[in-house]
Amino acid sequence: MIDVAVVGGGPAGLTAANYLRRFHRSCLVLDSGKSRARWIPESNNCPGFPGGVSGDELLARLRRQAAAAEVPIETATVERIVRASDGDGFVVHAGERSWRARMVMIATGLRDRLPGDWAEQAMSCGALRLCPICDAFEVSDRHIGVYGHGADIGSHARFLRTFSASVTALPLDGDDGGEEGAAARAEGVRWMDGGTLEFDDGRCVFRCNGKATPFDTVYCFLGFETSVPVDGLALERTRSGEIVVDRHQQTATRGLYAIGDIVGGLNQISVAVGQAAAAATHAHGQLPASPRAAEAA
Ligand SMILES: Cc1cc2nc3c(=O)[nH]c(=O)nc-3n(C[C@H](O)[C@H](O)[C@H](O)COP(=O)(O)OP(=O)(O)OC[C@H]3O[C@@H](n4cnc5c(N)ncnc54)[C@H](O)[C@@H]3O)c2cc1C
Repeated sequence: MIDVAVVGGGPAGLTAANYLRRFHRSCLVLDSGKSRARWIPESNNCPGFPGGVSGDELLARLRRQAAAAEVPIETATVERIVRASDGDGFVVHAGERSWRARMVMIATGLRDRLPGDWAEQAMSCGALRLCPICDAFEVSDRHIGVYGHGADIGSHARFLRTFSASVTALPLDGDDGGEEGAAARAEGVRWMDGGTLEFDDGRCVFRCNGKATPFDTVYCFLGFETSVPVDGLALERTRSGEIVVDRHQQTATRGLYAIGDIVGGLNQISVAVGQAAAAATHAHGQLPASPRAAEAA
């Protein structure tokens, strides 16, 4: 029986595990290795990195920090988290393997829906972006496209007007965006007819009415998918699948926490690590006390 099994080894999961180990708790990170952060070419809003940091470098540093705290990290895709048959804690299953833990933290993040199999290459050079809160500052005053279902992109296009006078809505379906679309157009957003987004020669290009229009960068809003491998445990979720938690990051099941992007709210590294700190500290307080033996002093 370990104290806490952390499912997911992105910024949220690794930070929680580091906190737990520093409370002298036993824990384990189970990770399938597909953090959203791996797609960050350079983050400039991650606290403590004045010259920016790539997602891969940040993840490597977080893993090194976890290793220094002696956090075991297993490569595994968790398929089921269930209540232990005797009611004491949980059992986490991945393939043939299973682990028993008093508490579980779900830090599995989200899976972005992308516009094509070229998306990863386009993200790596900044031609395609997913998160204006993260990096729209870097494209201030450039020609920005906003791609997605017309009904969804009006508010995002309006937000991007903070950063550039040249914002163009690129609806994949020709939808005019309703009231948000009208407000965006009133605020100077150009609204195109329906079309398709392509990646050509290092740039995203919107093909519509037989014409191809290139952009300095395109923000894509196609939503995301979530998968939460709990089985038979009470869990409240938003309409888009994110987990609802209390102020300690605890779900509707006592001892089951959720942290990071899988929780509804702002999807940012600073938020993910803040939630991890809060959850780990609360979990430590709820676990059976573990006073240090006198001979350790
Ligand atoms: C292109 C891009 C740029 C971004 N730029 C910034 C930025 O500049 N600043 C910023 O603050 N944020 C940025 N973000 C957002 C940031 O990456 C996320 O907020 C952050 O990664 C969330 O951390 P997380 O630990 O919750 O989830 P993730 O980092 O996604 O990690 C989740 C982990 O759980 C694993 N997992 C999932 N399911 C299972 C399972 N069943 N079993 C085991 N493991 C599982 C995944 O493989 C993954 O390793 C950006 C995101 C993208 C996509």
